[in-house]
Amino acid sequence: MTIEDKIRKALMKHGMGSTLVPIRCPSCNFLASTPEEEEQLFRKKAQCPHCGVKDKIAQITLDNYILVCDWIGQFATSSNHRDQVSATIMFCVLFESILETLKRDYISIHPEIDSRIKDTEKTFKIKDVFGKTLIQLLDSAPLDIKQFPDEWETIRIKRNNFMHGHSGYLYLNQKDAQDVMDLTPKAIALFIWMNNKYCLRS
Ligand SMILES: [Zn+2]
Repeated sequence: MTIEDKIRKALMKHGMGSTLVPIRCPSCNFLASTPEEEEQLFRKKAQCPHCGVKDKIAQITLDNYILVCDWIGQFATSSNHRDQVSATIMFCVLFESILETLKRDYISIHPEIDSRIKDTEKTFKIKDVFGKTLIQLLDSAPLDIKQFPDEWETIRIKRNNFMHGHSGYLYLNQKDAQDVMDLTPKAIALFIWMNNKYCLRS
């Protein structure tokens, strides 16, 4: 099964459509979450399923995410050790980018947060923005999305140890690469779920 098939399957399992290109309503920020909603957002005259706005062509957004997912799959299934390690590092960057997008979109609809944190130079944590931890924010999510933060933490620590040169972690291996292939569809499903739960305008 290719990484694309895995993502498609994971999204369908959560009733989140099957597109590999998240389709976003330009008005309310809604991401299509079923095949019917994808169709609806693609049709120019149709209403957005969330906000009802008509006559706007839906933006096809974040296609680089899908490109990166594809590369993670290609690197993870390579027999080259350098590629396997690259898959793990790329997955971590992908999910960190997803978190940054969610934080940015949440701040854009809650300007009071921006004024509170804009003076700090450090990167702010998800709790600084949302007021809750990632685990708390996923409380009502489907089970395997809820489990994601623990799995993410494991791979994030391995990546950090590797990049900081701790010799015990020098050999991020094929098993780690396979793990991130399994986690990539969950990361995308988490992104769509969190966007539609916390980041909609109106
Ligand atoms: Zn909308």
